[in-house]
Amino acid sequence: MSAFAVFSAAGRWYRGNCHTHTTLSDGKGTPQEVAELYRTRGYDFLTLTDHWKCHEEVGSLCRKGFLVIPGIELHPPARTPHTAVNHHIVGIGVAKAPSKARMQKQTARSAIRHIERQGGIPVYAHPYWSGHSIEQMREGRAAFGVEVFNNVCEVERGLGDSSPHADMALSEGFPWRLLAVDDLHRPLRDPAGGWLQVRAPALTAPAILKAIRRGWFYATQGPSIRALSIRRHVCRVECSPVSSIVWHMEGPFGRVARAEGQPLTSGEFDMRPRLGRTRYVRVEIIDAHGRKAWSNPAWYDARRRQWSDDPGPARFRRAGR
Ligand SMILES: [Zn+2]
Ligand SMILES: [Zn+2]
Repeated sequence: MSAFAVFSAAGRWYRGNCHTHTTLSDGKGTPQEVAELYRTRGYDFLTLTDHWKCHEEVGSLCRKGFLVIPGIELHPPARTPHTAVNHHIVGIGVAKAPSKARMQKQTARSAIRHIERQGGIPVYAHPYWSGHSIEQMREGRAAFGVEVFNNVCEVERGLGDSSPHADMALSEGFPWRLLAVDDLHRPLRDPAGGWLQVRAPALTAPAILKAIRRGWFYATQGPSIRALSIRRHVCRVECSPVSSIVWHMEGPFGRVARAEGQPLTSGEFDMRPRLGRTRYVRVEIIDAHGRKAWSNPAWYDARRRQWSDDPGPARFRRAGR
């Protein structure tokens, strides 16, 4: 598998929000109102993820060119060390809720397993807002990915951007992909702050879920990543006009390119001097309004001297975790 294959994959880009609340839990909009809101804002798909509850019938919310996928948000307790805030684990593509009474006594891993058994994609939600340390995030390392940006956490507390948490986790070898979401609760306040651009062959739930599982997406607040590739250990980015392009690796490595005069629409980073010092590289672009887009990580296989979209979790798993 090559690195950043999504940018040469067939299909088209679909815009979607993967974390949304409605009146089924503590959201202020009905499922119908929320679906209509996203459809009219130009979204292609939406996942409804109420606390502990699933919309078992989303068919009536779908329209031509607009797909609604069922989901859930689960809150198993965090254990190490004790904290006031439970884990928030979002399940994309889950149509059946577990027993809340039982799961409240279980672990993040049980919640992740429940989501996977239902055919869903488990995402570790908003670690910055939760105040979670790397110890607590380790309980959720079996998740597929992490919310690198959560809009309602940004709007309410200024705690939306979990990029450093993502780097801490990736530096330990977590196989996490990076998602941006709204976590909409109030339809007038929360929509369109962060979303996914998913590359898929068709707008169906199986095609979108399969594309997400393959990592065929990037997260954004507005800027577009147009091309991303690694050839001979040189990582090249093409994007909408931005103020800076940042290549993140295990700290303190990586690089930033800043616009001087004209905005940047491309950049290159020769990673050869850094080989063997990082497990991953990921790219962030930041526009003149401070809005970001985040690529998924590409992982470096030191044995084969290759970059890949495959995190190879077993290869990096450390003893005792
Ligand atoms: Zn949450
Ligand atoms: Zn939520």
